[in-house]
Amino acid sequence: MSEFDAVALVKCETYEYEEVKRALGESLDLIDALSFVEPGMKIGIKANLVTGASADKAITTNPVLLRRLCELLVERGATVVIGDSPGGLFTPSFVQNIYKACGLNELEDIKGVTLNQNFSVKDGTFPEALSIKSFIYTGWLRDVDVIINFSKLKTHAMMGMSCAVKNMFGCIPGATKPEYHMRFPEEKAFANVMVDLNEYFKPVLYVVDAIDGMEGNGPTAGEKRHIGAVLASKKPYALDMVCAHMIGMGINDVQTLLMASERGLGPKDISEVRILGGYSLGDAVVPDFKRATIHQSITFEGGTVFNRIKSVAVKLAYSTKPQVKKDECIGCRKCHETCPAKAITMVRANGASPKGTGSIPSIDRSKCIKCFCCQEFCPVGAMKVHYNPIGKLLNNMHG
Ligand code: SF4
Ligand code: SF4
Repeated sequence: MSEFDAVALVKCETYEYEEVKRALGESLDLIDALSFVEPGMKIGIKANLVTGASADKAITTNPVLLRRLCELLVERGATVVIGDSPGGLFTPSFVQNIYKACGLNELEDIKGVTLNQNFSVKDGTFPEALSIKSFIYTGWLRDVDVIINFSKLKTHAMMGMSCAVKNMFGCIPGATKPEYHMRFPEEKAFANVMVDLNEYFKPVLYVVDAIDGMEGNGPTAGEKRHIGAVLASKKPYALDMVCAHMIGMGINDVQTLLMASERGLGPKDISEVRILGGYSLGDAVVPDFKRATIHQSITFEGGTVFNRIKSVAVKLAYSTKPQVKKDECIGCRKCHETCPAKAITMVRANGASPKGTGSIPSIDRSKCIKCFCCQEFCPVGAMKVHYNPIGKLLNNMHG
């Protein structure tokens, strides 16, 4: 085990500036995180700005944490650019609205800190990749000397969990993200896209906002859940392993962890991670954290016919699909525009939300690849993850 398998785990109960200052400072000191910073360096912070949501919704990286990290970097003589490519267009007007909604504009009051204004895209080639040997990415990431990944701990319908590793998907320009779901519809291949992106960009540091996270219908439409921690590491897979453990998940629940481990890049188990700080992992675990889906975790050892039948039966029980909640749908068409498989048409329906247009999405199940982009980008949380009845029962029992 190398020093880079170390993960700093520090208790942090609120987003009060003084509390954040203490907890973030402690977590960064524990892993000597900022020793790479040199005067004149240009540092990109890849935040999670998946959608325009205020900080209290617990969907995006909290601005108080970002503020403190920026201050620490600027004090060391660096300049900082904060950016992300949210779901939707990667254009100045679209992204400015996201910055504003997420409460980031006031961070530019700090001398040396800017919000990204470079909306170019670049071609990337990565021969060693398993999934994305060639791809396009947001050009601002090539304008900076190093990248810091600052994610948010949430559930995720397709990947199980959204945290450090998944956050790198925001390097793909928003409107082209659905194409990657089409190219890699199978969970393992899609998880390898995330691992490839981490290996290609190699952020020097990963920090996780796990003070308030999201449970249930994540990563955008779940419920806020207090977790009470800030974490930092130089290794994304070790860091995600700790975060998964804190919300009651293991390697088989989070495909990115499984793929990283199979590729020899990440730990197989929480016991392989060195946790630093006075906050014990046992105390940091949040009981009964609601998952978005657990169908990925169901595997049976051995190739006997009986086990294969059991595996298929349980997978069917746990099978999930996107389903609109009619009375919450405002008919905005975002799911229709986002769906990479063109599986959604808008139809007139009785019972749609009176606040909306009266149209709701209708999903062609034969085309749907279950990427859950529609669920991720619905602005009002009207697109839900639907379990079949047996799976729902088992899921409730699972907690
Ligand atoms: S309907 Fe939703 S889950 Fe199905 S392919 Fe379209 S966006 Fe993905
Ligand atoms: S389900 Fe959500 S994204 Fe789709 S039309 Fe309704 S409100 Fe809009």
